[in-house]
Amino acid sequence: MSLPPLVEPAAELTVDEVRRYSRHLIIPDVGMAGQKRLKNAKVLCVGAGGLGSPALLYLAAAGVGTLGVIDFDVVDESNLQRQVIHGQSDVGRPKAESAAASVREINPLIDVVVHNEVLTTENVMEVFSGYDLIVDGTDNFATRYMVNDAAVLLGKPYVWGSIYRFDGQASVFWAEHGPCYRCLYPEPPPPGMVPSCAEGGVLGVLCASIGSIQVNEAIKVLTGIGEPLVGRLMIYDALEMTYRSVKVRKDPECVLCGKNPTVTELLEDYEAFCGAVSAEAQEAASGSTITAAELKSWQDAGENVYVVDVREPNEYEIVSIPGAVLIPKGEFLNGSALERLPQDKKIVLHCKSGARSAECLAIVKNAGFSDAVHVGGGVLSWIKTVDPSLPAY
Ligand code: ZN
Repeated sequence: MSLPPLVEPAAELTVDEVRRYSRHLIIPDVGMAGQKRLKNAKVLCVGAGGLGSPALLYLAAAGVGTLGVIDFDVVDESNLQRQVIHGQSDVGRPKAESAAASVREINPLIDVVVHNEVLTTENVMEVFSGYDLIVDGTDNFATRYMVNDAAVLLGKPYVWGSIYRFDGQASVFWAEHGPCYRCLYPEPPPPGMVPSCAEGGVLGVLCASIGSIQVNEAIKVLTGIGEPLVGRLMIYDALEMTYRSVKVRKDPECVLCGKNPTVTELLEDYEAFCGAVSAEAQEAASGSTITAAELKSWQDAGENVYVVDVREPNEYEIVSIPGAVLIPKGEFLNGSALERLPQDKKIVLHCKSGARSAECLAIVKNAGFSDAVHVGGGVLSWIKTVDPSLPAY
């Protein structure tokens, strides 16, 4: 399905612009008209992380006239393995600012708009309304559903991408012409079922594979060339080295873009909608959460504790709390972990940041270990407050 161009052409290109974009201009499908459309285009990239890095670099180089970047985070050393828009000297700097500096270096002829803030239900409609198209480079379900809902409510197209280990997906969601993200995924996955890249890892170069598909699609939608990924989901497998696309139909029953929508404004709380931690886990953790420093003082005092690390073996290998026994979360879910727990010791669970251990805590408490606790903030909190010499990941 081809679609009309999203953006009207700018009046003209300057001599500098003609020189800079000549390799675009000599492609008949792009030409002067297409490049003028790019010049007039306003594109917002949500997140200057794994997907945002390549996306922003290529959108800038392509001559998208106004390029917005929204990110609240600061550059961390563990970002540099894949977030190539940032460099060593940017560590500790706000990502939005670091990304904007790289963009200006690549193309001084475009305008960069820095939104050094969290995208929230309070500001998303206003921020999005200043742009023609959104590139979604977020890494969590709460923001993804919020981006989708805001884009549908504003009638704007957005290019979505997702990455995990060696697998990537991308699509263009534009409710006027095809399905939205909720048509494909009506409900968020159960809490804890889909690991994030921070939990499961991601091959750095996968970001470039998917981020470049997103830019490719953005350029097509802006200029009206080719057949954009509207109504199709691109699935990339870096190990098999295969790309395949599957049809995604608009769901007439979609609560957002269907015939009788029940969601007609933004949800109040997307975190709650996506339930970062399940209700059972929240209940289990309430009153049964200790700090990393408390665990350290218990260990130093020789208390009778049994510390269980519920992360995956490769995470345990990177860094672990001294004395912790590794029993991955999957063994709690299938029940086999329970027989390995001693009856005569206080069970202390921990994971990377406290979400997985809270899920396991609910299972352990249900099995009768009523005085079990978990470590809020997980091993990351241990590194921060107890032993900063250990590597965070
Ligand atoms: Zn929909």
